[in-house]
Amino acid sequence: MFDNLSDKLDKALHLLKGHGKITDVNVADTLKEVRRALLDADVNFKIAKDFTTRVKDKAIGENVLTTLQPGQLMVKIVKDELAELMGGDAAGINLSGNPSVILMSGLQGSGKTTFSGKLANFLKTKKNKKPLLVACDIYRPAAINQLHVVGGQIGVEVYSEPENKNPVEIAQNAIKHAKANGFNVVIVDTAGRLAVDEEMMNEIANVHKAIQPQETLFVVDAMTGQDAVNTAKAFNDRLNFDGVILTKLDGDTRGGAAISIKSVVNKPIKFIGTGEKMEAIDVFYPSRMADRILG
Ligand code: GDP
Repeated sequence: MFDNLSDKLDKALHLLKGHGKITDVNVADTLKEVRRALLDADVNFKIAKDFTTRVKDKAIGENVLTTLQPGQLMVKIVKDELAELMGGDAAGINLSGNPSVILMSGLQGSGKTTFSGKLANFLKTKKNKKPLLVACDIYRPAAINQLHVVGGQIGVEVYSEPENKNPVEIAQNAIKHAKANGFNVVIVDTAGRLAVDEEMMNEIANVHKAIQPQETLFVVDAMTGQDAVNTAKAFNDRLNFDGVILTKLDGDTRGGAAISIKSVVNKPIKFIGTGEKMEAIDVFYPSRMADRILG
């Protein structure tokens, strides 16, 4: 994961090794390389530029106060700033409802259905919850079947109404079913499209309005880099979602989406998907990710 970025940042920060103190000149050289590393990772230009400006101000400011070597100081500052950029503290999910309703949104193929299963499994095995999965994709029978397969794998019930073409009704009926049968979390998997379109946005906005979920999560494929960030913006403008799920991080060699998405939509990344199996889900900790990137 993000090997290229780690390598390049490591090389950039090495430029300061051997220097007795940080000066404007050696900071500028290092930061030029840091910025290049971020751009190569598919981080948006403005975010990369603002990032290096903040690092520079901190480096010059802290330089006189610290006993750290310039190389170490810079690693620390870049790490802290990366963690901050990715969201600071880890963000939990709101499970205060009875039942707690979680609405999943995102494009087709982003990993929504897989993640719905992973989250149900996580809540069942790690949080002692009794989740219900709901199939609200009214266009693709295969999507309903897929959710049933996933539910079967993890031993979680799946609610579906294959003949009903009204996702609002299906979601509302599912919540009634959950209340009547002691489910305390309801995870609603919705239809995605290949690209952002008005019909899909209207549909999910209607479901959102009708069921008033405690959590609306936006699922996106990390491998799509800047596109992931743009799609996040389009969904957030419409849904004002609560958090981002970055899937396929196992295949993402660059890292641009993980690094930029928080600062563009101002919503935290809550979980990451790191494989196709039901167990391949992790809570997202910005500082751990920064530690990983800077080795
Ligand atoms: P949906 O259309 O948004 O519901 O997407 P799916 O859940 O069907 O996922 C699309 C494809 O991505 C499937 O082949 C999944 O197995 C795969 N997938 C989902 N999440 C991950 C992940 O975290 N890592 C990898 N490598 N593949 C994933």
